[in-house]
Amino acid sequence: MRAMAVVDYTQPLRPIDVPEIIPPAGHVRVRVLACGVCFSDVKTARGHMPFSSGLRLPHIPGHEICGEVLEAPEGSGFRKGDRVLVYNYWGCGRCPMCRMGQENLCLNLQGWVGFTSPGGFQEQLAVPPERLLPLPSEIPPEQAAPIGCAVATAYRAVVTRAAIRPGELVGVIGAGGIGLHAIQIARAVGARVIAVDIDPRKLEAARALGAVEAVFPEEAESAARRWSHGIGLDAVLETVGHADTVELAVRSVRRGGRVIGVGYRMGDAASIPTPRWVLEEITLMGSRYALRHEVEHAIRLVAQGLVRPVVDAVLPLESANEALERLERGQVIGRVVLRVSDTQP
Ligand SMILES: [Zn+2]
Ligand SMILES: [Zn+2]
Repeated sequence: MRAMAVVDYTQPLRPIDVPEIIPPAGHVRVRVLACGVCFSDVKTARGHMPFSSGLRLPHIPGHEICGEVLEAPEGSGFRKGDRVLVYNYWGCGRCPMCRMGQENLCLNLQGWVGFTSPGGFQEQLAVPPERLLPLPSEIPPEQAAPIGCAVATAYRAVVTRAAIRPGELVGVIGAGGIGLHAIQIARAVGARVIAVDIDPRKLEAARALGAVEAVFPEEAESAARRWSHGIGLDAVLETVGHADTVELAVRSVRRGGRVIGVGYRMGDAASIPTPRWVLEEITLMGSRYALRHEVEHAIRLVAQGLVRPVVDAVLPLESANEALERLERGQVIGRVVLRVSDTQP
């Protein structure tokens, strides 16, 4: 099987040959059709993830996976030819976090597709059936792949964590893969969105997707004041993870407002004025990936046409390095998706 792998953190990914997958008992054999490329793939490829120093190389990244079932065990609920999305966080189902319904915070992960276990930059994967979500076949694979991380992560941040309500005024800092989908979901919920980014092309994309205003960071606080009659934003989604953008989020939110962090960078630490936090009751919340029901809802939003996955380019698997480099240079609007294999009759 063809695969693109991290062999050395200082080198580009390398094409490697991997043996055909033999699915363990009870697993589904999935042909990877398309795999989105996320900024965390850049961090994984360059060795900038919290787990990087202990990761065994070569490693096959890729966690935004749309596939097709090749072979499924009896009783799994799947059949050959079914279109599926891979849920990349394989919680143990038994630890206290899993028991409390927070599988995205599992203490004893059994697999983390593309991060610490092999991902979608290869032609096939073996997946436990409960980690697969059925996809309506009318969503093309290149559109479906980004639902697995970009749209689903945005869904959890906007709907579950920020609990955005109709009529609210929401800031989205960073109009990248998460941000451009968060804007659409917040709009679908009935909120108005102010988008913030340093790239005029991303600001334009944000406007095209319905942001009432899209501004550079230095203009963000005055835009927030203007739109809220001086009060501040009801909630801010921070998707960048730099100390200065987190601090901007805290300054832009109203008294009693919520700041939801979705972006992070190793070594970055923001500083929050404690009087503002406490006396003005600012809620600071992290948001990690999504639970399976949130991925399911993200799929429905796309199927209903309320959210359109933003795909900048579709490249062949062998161009994975080009995708990573374009992301690293900040040149991607939404997602680059790798075409991994063709559907077969
Ligand atoms: Zn991702
Ligand atoms: Zn667990």
